[in-house]
Amino acid sequence: MEMKKTIFKRIIDGEIPAKIVLEDDDCLAFEDVSPQAPVHVLVIPKKEIRSLADVEPADAVLMGKLMMFIQKVAINLELENGYRVITNIGEDGGQSVPHLHFHVMGKRALAWPPG
Ligand code: 5GP
Repeated sequence: MEMKKTIFKRIIDGEIPAKIVLEDDDCLAFEDVSPQAPVHVLVIPKKEIRSLADVEPADAVLMGKLMMFIQKVAINLELENGYRVITNIGEDGGQSVPHLHFHVMGKRALAWPPG
């Protein structure tokens, strides 16, 4: 059975528009459509992985690339004053799109703890 594409897979495939911030062979960063901070970017692997809970040992190199990619995004967006990286997992984690993504938020002081 063919799985329905997630909204992020459709962005990767160029089927729906997104404000791309940075892209390489494995990773994509684009602006969140509903920003919760002056900078709110989503960083995703192009590989379809449902969430951090679904990452496998074979994805270890990709995960390292994603972390370094986030660092590059933060440098490009001049987040030298600090920022936050969040990944929501599953229902209790508040994940609404089943494609692994990291929220990168900054340019304001962020409260802690999150709700
Ligand atoms: P989650 O709740 O799964 O951690 O985060 C999903 C995020 O994706 C939300 O912050 C939401 O605003 C964002 N989002 C949902 N649909 C779209 C879309 O079509 N385009 C973009 N750029 N962001 C989206």
